[in-house]
Amino acid sequence: MTQPSAEEYVESLLERDAQLEKVKEVIRAKGMPDISVAAGYGKLLTLLTKMTGAKRVLEIGALGGYSGICLARGLCEEGKLVSLELKQDYADVALDNLREAGLGEKVEYRVGEALDSLKQLENEGCKFDLFFIDADKGNYPNYLEWAIRLGNPGAVIVGDNTLLHGDIMDPGAQGNRVVKMRLFNELMTSDPRLEGVILPAYDGLAIARIR
Ligand code: SAH
Ligand code: MG
Repeated sequence: MTQPSAEEYVESLLERDAQLEKVKEVIRAKGMPDISVAAGYGKLLTLLTKMTGAKRVLEIGALGGYSGICLARGLCEEGKLVSLELKQDYADVALDNLREAGLGEKVEYRVGEALDSLKQLENEGCKFDLFFIDADKGNYPNYLEWAIRLGNPGAVIVGDNTLLHGDIMDPGAQGNRVVKMRLFNELMTSDPRLEGVILPAYDGLAIARIR
């Protein structure tokens, strides 16, 4: 018998989650990409939302609502999730899935280029306590600047896929997403406005707190 990986072992301890399994089924059935956040990190998103007591959460990149459910589950009674998604049909699927999970009232989807939606949120004077950055990788440093601008003091910023399947460690990989993600990782761990760390399991998750 082959030994399970660390991720497989840890996931075997997590309780079965019928709601999230259903979301993955819907995503497959609709022919959407199978790139929802890893189960262990989804659980971490719920915990971080609870542990910080975040009232206003901003997600960048919704896909089918898997991570949206994880974030919304952690919100307190009056908490709210705003989620930015480029594609109307993805946002529709995500909203359906959050409604199905009984979390429809907690979420607002904004469709379009995330950079435009972020500008709009700033114009509206919106501030947030927790961010989950998980959209187009080449814009991660831009999304980080926006998170710092829209973040309350002490706000937590989380970025997914920060190892890009190992490309980050490959000195020969110099494409735009890799270069931008390396910059993002450097900023998350050493920008003087932040205090952060990167978890190397799965595809890498960066977590920082605004000082
Ligand atoms: N957070 C989701 C997965 C997101 S996948 C989860 O874990 O469940 C990345 C998503 O970002 C896709 O749905 C894609 O359509 C969206 N996206 C890509 N570029 C974008 C952009 N420029 N603005 C907003 N959303 C974008
Ligand atoms: Mg991701």
